[in-house]
Amino acid sequence: MEVKDLTPSEVWDLFDKITAVPRPSKKESKIVAFLLDFAKEHDLEVTKDSADNVFMRKPATPGYEDRKTVILQSHVDMVCEKNSNVAFNFETDPIKTQVKDGWVKARGTTLGADDGIGMAAALAVLTAPDVRHGPLIALFTTDEETGLNGANNLNPQFLQGDILLNLDSEEWGEFCIGCAGGRHTRGVFTFRWEPAPRNHFAWVEVKVSGLKGGHSGSDIHKELGNANKILARYLYSLMQQETIFIADIDGGNLHNAIAREARATIGFPSLFKDRAVALLNILQANLLDELSPEDRPLFQLEISTASQPPQVIDKKAATDLISALYTLPHGVIGWSHAMPGTVETSTNLASVKMHDNQKIVVTTSQRSSLASAKEDIVTRVGIIFRMASAEVRTTDGYPGWKPDPQSPILNICKKIYKRLYGDFPKIISIHAGLECGLFKEKKPDLDMMSFGPTIMGAHSPEERLEIDTVSKWWDLLKAVLKDIPVR
Ligand SMILES: [Zn+2]
Repeated sequence: MEVKDLTPSEVWDLFDKITAVPRPSKKESKIVAFLLDFAKEHDLEVTKDSADNVFMRKPATPGYEDRKTVILQSHVDMVCEKNSNVAFNFETDPIKTQVKDGWVKARGTTLGADDGIGMAAALAVLTAPDVRHGPLIALFTTDEETGLNGANNLNPQFLQGDILLNLDSEEWGEFCIGCAGGRHTRGVFTFRWEPAPRNHFAWVEVKVSGLKGGHSGSDIHKELGNANKILARYLYSLMQQETIFIADIDGGNLHNAIAREARATIGFPSLFKDRAVALLNILQANLLDELSPEDRPLFQLEISTASQPPQVIDKKAATDLISALYTLPHGVIGWSHAMPGTVETSTNLASVKMHDNQKIVVTTSQRSSLASAKEDIVTRVGIIFRMASAEVRTTDGYPGWKPDPQSPILNICKKIYKRLYGDFPKIISIHAGLECGLFKEKKPDLDMMSFGPTIMGAHSPEERLEIDTVSKWWDLLKAVLKDIPVR
């Protein structure tokens, strides 16, 4: 059995053709050309903007001319990951697919069902003879995976519809109606190097390791331990009792990851060493009470002998830095009232990095589906940095999409889902960025929803698409288009 033998054939045929076209993020010219050719071949109005986003329009089927205009939106690029033992060139080679145990998978590479299946469904709606619909727009965006860049630079004229269906969700039975916006806030601490004291001083490395870590959006509600916070807490407890010097410090890595590890080389009078070890043991025991069960098994807070460093950070900068790290919030800041049980606002104390130019950069990232709440937490983090004499740098970030449980398109989709499948779908809002946030910013009155078939292991060579959910999703999509209300 091959992909093109699957049903509904109008969707799988197109998915098969799309997977044959190379389409890495930022290298989308081949798939854009494919779409332009496709539109010409099927006599569809087509145009593209300066960001290579493709816009197609199809008039209503007879009798449906007075319906609201629906935009079917998907992204054309895919994440390119392969197993190390697979020879594959994503810029030239077609994805090799296989059908197995109810799933479609690639051979050792990402499949690109994210979001190739969304593209396939949109093209199928434009060409399948049995789909009845009002005025339609199909919108194909570029460079979603490396920062929502196509959507960010989208020609706003491409959003001249009433309803937008985003075809980029990965869990059948879930309707997504909201996402977080995000911003980064960095604190830059400037320090002076000073000669490290030598006589009667002990130098040690303090290390936090073994924490679970995770994604600062999708895992933030799990209350996982943050290595930067733990390191700061220990160093602050030492500073309360003795003069300590910091020779170097490092923690965390990516802005969107919860810090799993952090370390510092510090010095204190040799006579204080036993006390430092005792404080470490007390904190270690307390943390085993405080940390989540996921963090506990491998967590370690260790101290080991280090060699004498030549220089240390000046004392004021060291105190400012550790005070700020201790005080900075991390984790969930607020829960959604519209969507109980969903995180609305959060902040991640992501990383602490020393730079050669006598600067230490602390990177934090804030998310919220509410623009005002996002600005509030950005301001709070900024104030803490400034109080600690750090310079504050923020990025513009990306906008969120505030969930509206009363959305008309959501209610239509819910009703039809219930009629077809006997129960109600799960309504979710995700705590990460989606293109929808940018669409909403450009056209605030768009009624939007996101849904799709089940994709597991997206962005990895394990990516697979569940065949059964594609036909269910396709039937739902067709039924929804038929039931779009009049303008
Ligand atoms: Zn996607």
